[in-house]
Amino acid sequence: MPNHTPSNYFISLDKAKELTQTISIPTKEEKITIQNAYNRILSQDIFSNINDPPFNNSSMDGYAVIYSDTIKATKNNPIELKIIDVINAGSIPQKEIQSGFASKIMTGAPIPKGADSIIMVEKTQKEEGKIKIFQPSFPNYIRLKGENISKGQLILEKGTLLKPSHIGLLATTGHSHISVFKKLKISIISTGDELISPGEKLSSGKIYESNSYVLEGLINDLGHIPLRINSISDSIDILRLELDKAITESDLIITSGGVSMGDFDIVRNIMESEGEILFWRIKIRPGSPPLFGKWKQKPIFCLPGNPASSFVVFKILIEPWLNKIINFNKNPPKIIKAKILENIKNKPNFQIFNRVFIKNNGDEMIAFTKSHQGSGNINSLASSNGLTLLPPGMGAKKNEIIDILLI
Ligand code: AMP
Ligand code: MG
Repeated sequence: MPNHTPSNYFISLDKAKELTQTISIPTKEEKITIQNAYNRILSQDIFSNINDPPFNNSSMDGYAVIYSDTIKATKNNPIELKIIDVINAGSIPQKEIQSGFASKIMTGAPIPKGADSIIMVEKTQKEEGKIKIFQPSFPNYIRLKGENISKGQLILEKGTLLKPSHIGLLATTGHSHISVFKKLKISIISTGDELISPGEKLSSGKIYESNSYVLEGLINDLGHIPLRINSISDSIDILRLELDKAITESDLIITSGGVSMGDFDIVRNIMESEGEILFWRIKIRPGSPPLFGKWKQKPIFCLPGNPASSFVVFKILIEPWLNKIINFNKNPPKIIKAKILENIKNKPNFQIFNRVFIKNNGDEMIAFTKSHQGSGNINSLASSNGLTLLPPGMGAKKNEIIDILLI
């Protein structure tokens, strides 16, 4: 057992989530151009500057006509209309349509006065100065002013993580600049005497370090800035230096490794003697060792070193906490139901996050493990696209429908 077991020791995930809520990070805003908006988080509601479309326009290449002129048109008895104008997208129609007349019109061009319908070019036959129409032109193919969005309408809510379609909506409604939350800076410190960087030669007893790269990607996914360093050895003095440096550079520190029961678990040691611990250990599998607290006023999450564990703890604990801080409530976790194809065993009060592959199997979604579930097995993650979400203490029976968190 550790020197000083914290009062919140080996708690439920729900309790851990509750305790993380007692610490926050101050957020700031900044104005950016929409070109830089990909994967940024809106810090204000956005309203449309305009009606979309801004004017009635044609949704087809064809002819602008008066519907009643065409009612009697048939294949054998076409009607003829005189062409008086050609209207391109971007131009202003010069002539009003009166009975017996039509204007050629391109997709996106404004509807001329007098016209109430568009006949597709494919349904007409052009002759010198006139067209023949073989069917009635029902009042259609007109995109009405404001039918997509009206001026002043709320189009995107504060907290939206901006994806390409959102950026398209901003551009369409005339926004060139927007306010977003400043990205949080998050330090990543991985620890372990056995770790070397990919690219170096593997020597005996060593393994390639991977967690810091995974965490870097997860942080980028959330629209924040990872500050990653190469892994450090299991030395309390080096760790102290790195933690002190991290608090000057970042808003949050994430460590990996050294937080379990081993003799060289320096992260746990230094947090016990010099840090502030809110909780240590959670009843989850994989990933039971996490520690959460403060290192000199800055929040710190200490993740276990096993690759599957550190990933899972980030997804189920850190990600929801960060999202809440940044008001990023408009992109909730993607959870779907699927039939699990194998039994899942559990321990009393534990929550189990198996890495599963989920796919559509005809008329149902099915989920299954592709690789063994050891917490050191990164392949169990890389070959999966979901995590089982089971209530505390619950396993699952083969063919049961359960919740899966998409990852
Ligand atoms: P620890 O949490 O430090 O006891 O490490 C648990 C297991 O995870 C050990 O087998 C370590 O070698 C491995 N491990 C620790 N940190 C990393 C890392 N950054 N990348 C890959 N494996 C790691
Ligand atoms: Mg270690």
